[in-house]
Amino acid sequence: MKHVPFKASKSSMRVYNPIRATIDTIVHPVNSDKEPIPLSIGDPTVFGNMLPHDYVKQALHKVIDSNSFNGYFNAAGSPEARKAVADRFSTPKNPLWDRDVILASGCSGALLLALTACAAAGDNVLIPRPGFSLYPTICAYLGVECRYYNLLPDKEWDIDLEHMKSLVDENTKAIVVNNPSNPCGSVWSKEHILEILDVVKQLHVPLISDEVYFDMVFEGKTFYSFGDLSEDVPVLIVGGIAKRYLVPGWRLGWVLIQDRHDLLSEIRQGMYKLAQLTLGANSLVQSILPEILHNTPQEFYDNSNRLLEEHATYLVQRISKIDGMHVIPPGGAMYIMVQVEVDKLDVKDDVDFTQKLLTEENVFVLPGTIFGAVGFVRLVVCSPLEKLKMACDRMEDFCKRHKKL
Ligand SMILES: *Cc1c(COP(=O)(O)O)cnc(C)c1O
Repeated sequence: MKHVPFKASKSSMRVYNPIRATIDTIVHPVNSDKEPIPLSIGDPTVFGNMLPHDYVKQALHKVIDSNSFNGYFNAAGSPEARKAVADRFSTPKNPLWDRDVILASGCSGALLLALTACAAAGDNVLIPRPGFSLYPTICAYLGVECRYYNLLPDKEWDIDLEHMKSLVDENTKAIVVNNPSNPCGSVWSKEHILEILDVVKQLHVPLISDEVYFDMVFEGKTFYSFGDLSEDVPVLIVGGIAKRYLVPGWRLGWVLIQDRHDLLSEIRQGMYKLAQLTLGANSLVQSILPEILHNTPQEFYDNSNRLLEEHATYLVQRISKIDGMHVIPPGGAMYIMVQVEVDKLDVKDDVDFTQKLLTEENVFVLPGTIFGAVGFVRLVVCSPLEKLKMACDRMEDFCKRHKKL
């Protein structure tokens, strides 16, 4: 063998994760006397205070012991699992059938299916700014151009619809929306969703709605699915059990095809074909999907929403009193966006704030730059309340110390 290293494919080398690009430059303190508090990871399981329901764990034990689910399923998912998803999200106005559901490896896999079926090199898709970093990552792999439409922090992160419209051209093959939002924690009103649907209808572009945080909303807010409110705009809804059921590692997601006027039949066919590349989601988790979706006790949902709201409310109260940080109260999901008031603090920007807060206080937040939200930082609300209290005390000290004179 000659000692000449082999080249990787261009498509693999194109994959670009904006999280890594920034995070890999951040230096973690080594000998800090302060206990590390990571408010950075969007995984509700890391602290052990948010666990899946016992019922779900027992159901998984049962299917393992049965030895009946060790084989291959249909690449799009087992009929029972797909029916369970269809039943769960059907409404009288927008009924769904097994054939409208394709299962995937997590909501990430569902997004990959939907985006790959809609767009290819030379096309563009519209994605939110701030937005989840996987959207540009998938687009980079596909060679698809991302065009970022703005969300408005002063309007609880509603879409700047005029801006969205201005980005569309004949090569625009999909519009991605995300509600409740990662990283914003925002929950759109019914009126705003109807407004968005109206614009999308005029634009005549397929809509991909990332609803992985379905129903994860606080008191006084209601979750509306785009599929449910749509009269005639077809929607590909992507979702999964990762966040709602607190099992991101179980890798089960879905695409729901809500298409009453048969405008997406070719895209549907494309996704079925693409499902054959990975042969779908894990068979064990698929097998208990009907139980997860239909038999999880209501108190599980209530408790996890209550915990997230309690934590979010605490953070909002504390941070709103910190001079130098401006918090935008969330309505759901697991995140809070905080604007760093760079005119009041001796920090350059959100990345500098993140690094200094980490070095001096061992509190790790994510710089908004990762999500296209320059000047903001994102906090995950999941960690235990004692940790959040400690983090707030430290952020308060930090901002006092770094106050511009
Ligand atoms: C976590 C997350 C996903 C991915 O979910 P998985 O099922 O774990 O792949 C997709 N979209 C958003 C907005 C998320 O926050």
